[in-house]
Parts: sequence; C-alpha cells; structure tokens
Amino acid sequence: MSTLQNISTMLRSHGLRVTPQRLAIAELVLSKASHFTARSTHDTLITTHPAISMNTVYMTLSQFESSGLLNHFEVNGNTVFDSNTVAHDHACCSRCKAIIDLPHHKNIPPQMPDALSLWQIKNEQRIWSGICPSCSGSLQ
Ligand SMILES: [Zn+2]
Ligand SMILES: [Zn+2]
Repeated sequence: MSTLQNISTMLRSHGLRVTPQRLAIAELVLSKASHFTARSTHDTLITTHPAISMNTVYMTLSQFESSGLLNHFEVNGNTVFDSNTVAHDHACCSRCKAIIDLPHHKNIPPQMPDALSLWQIKNEQRIWSGICPSCSGSLQ
C-alpha cells in the first residue's frame, strides 16, 4: 500500500469520500503500521498543508476509526491512534514515551476475570507501562 491510488481505493472501499486533506492524512497514517496522536499528525502535515486545522485532523482520524481503519487507546492522558488494527497489547515507556506492539499469543486463551463471566467480551487489550531498557540503562 505505497501509492496514493491504493490509498484512495482503500478509503473508497471503506465508504469514505476522497478529499485532498483526507488523502494527505491517510497517506501519512495508513501507509504503514504506526502509533500517533492527532497533535503529532497535525504537526507533520502543517509543513506541507499549511491550511489544515487541528479539528480537521481530529475529525478525519475519528472517521477513519469509525470505518475500521484505525484503533485508539489512551496512554498518560493522551489518545493514541494505531493503524495496526490486528488485536495486540502495548508497552509504553513513561520517560521517552516510546510505544511498542506486543502481539497476542493466539494459542494462550486470555484469563477472564470472574467478574466478567456473564459478559460477552468483544475485545481485550492491555497496556503495560514502565521504563524501557534504553531509558533505564539496562542495555549498557
Ligand atoms: Zn524509554
Ligand atoms: Zn499498536
């Protein structure tokens, strides 16, 4: 998925009209699996699209999420969007703010808390937080 044409096709196949701003945002955030905030997306796009507003970026990311192109999770009070929509967990460093993906181990069924025994669970995601090896110095 490297060309604008592929991205246009993907937007259309998810029921989204292709506009220049939407295409620019999609090219930035959907062409590879990554984690980003509305703020970081806006900061990057403003250099090439000076007219783009924070509100447009936020609305567009929300539309992408409603269409199944993105997920989001909360870390340290920030909403982080994720273009990897396959279920996975995250580890977040509280110093450098690095976020890494932790794949789910499909062969190990999740431990369901007793309190949820009557729930129909659709999704389960964990966020591990702490200090990464490069910040804690354990790599030296
Ligand atoms: Zn770190
Ligand atoms: Zn992720």
